[in-house]
Amino acid sequence: MLELAKIAFPDVKRLAESGRALTILPVGVVEEHGAHLPLGLDSFAAEIYAAAAAPHLEEKGYEVVVAPTISYGVARAAIEFPGTLSLEPGTLRSMVVEIGRSLARHGLDRLVVLNGHRDLHHMKALDDARKVLVEEKSARVLCVGFASDPDMTAACYREGVKHLYRSPRPDREGHGGESETSVALNSFPELVKGDVLKTLDANFDYDIEAFRNETKDYGTISGGRGYFGWPQAATAETGKQLVAIRGRNIADVILNAWGVPRA
Ligand SMILES: [Zn+2]
Repeated sequence: MLELAKIAFPDVKRLAESGRALTILPVGVVEEHGAHLPLGLDSFAAEIYAAAAAPHLEEKGYEVVVAPTISYGVARAAIEFPGTLSLEPGTLRSMVVEIGRSLARHGLDRLVVLNGHRDLHHMKALDDARKVLVEEKSARVLCVGFASDPDMTAACYREGVKHLYRSPRPDREGHGGESETSVALNSFPELVKGDVLKTLDANFDYDIEAFRNETKDYGTISGGRGYFGWPQAATAETGKQLVAIRGRNIADVILNAWGVPRA
């Protein structure tokens, strides 16, 4: 796996000429995830899943290049929390379209947008960008991770992970809960506030329809806690397995859609 920002232009030329290049663009956000987790969690998670998916794609002949992460996104539901930043959806769409066009101009025309942030307007902006790039024939584009298509999200993030939950209410685990806290404990433990985590109670009794449909803000739905589920159920071991399984899932989704590159 190569990082686009760390290689030089002749490497890009070689990648493009190989016909086997596949670019992953991680997308996240700056958004509260409870008092125990860092604001950049979704961006870090997108990068971690990209790195976990890459070896499976390389095994099948792709040359994976990861573009610098878009660390800003649309985050309206949690906008009242200090530190949450939001773009307008059109801004995010334009960024992805323009990055996609630039990559394609240099022959990097297989683009996977790997999104770590669940927000309906954010996901729609990414899907709109995909449509623009596909319709103008700039690039082949897949939106994976949290996607407008709920089946895609399930195939990437939910497939094969149910047994990992220690929470008594896995159906109530969400933003800032067991899953995201586990990934953080495994992949960037230095950014998890362990002393705060110890004090957090379970938040199962919330308006799940309002959470899913984003009809009320996170502060209101969570009683100011900013997380959904039971963060204390999280372990680094769970996080390790979540990363491995979801990386594999994402690679499988890409391979199912595009097959293997021609030698
Ligand atoms: Zn998140």
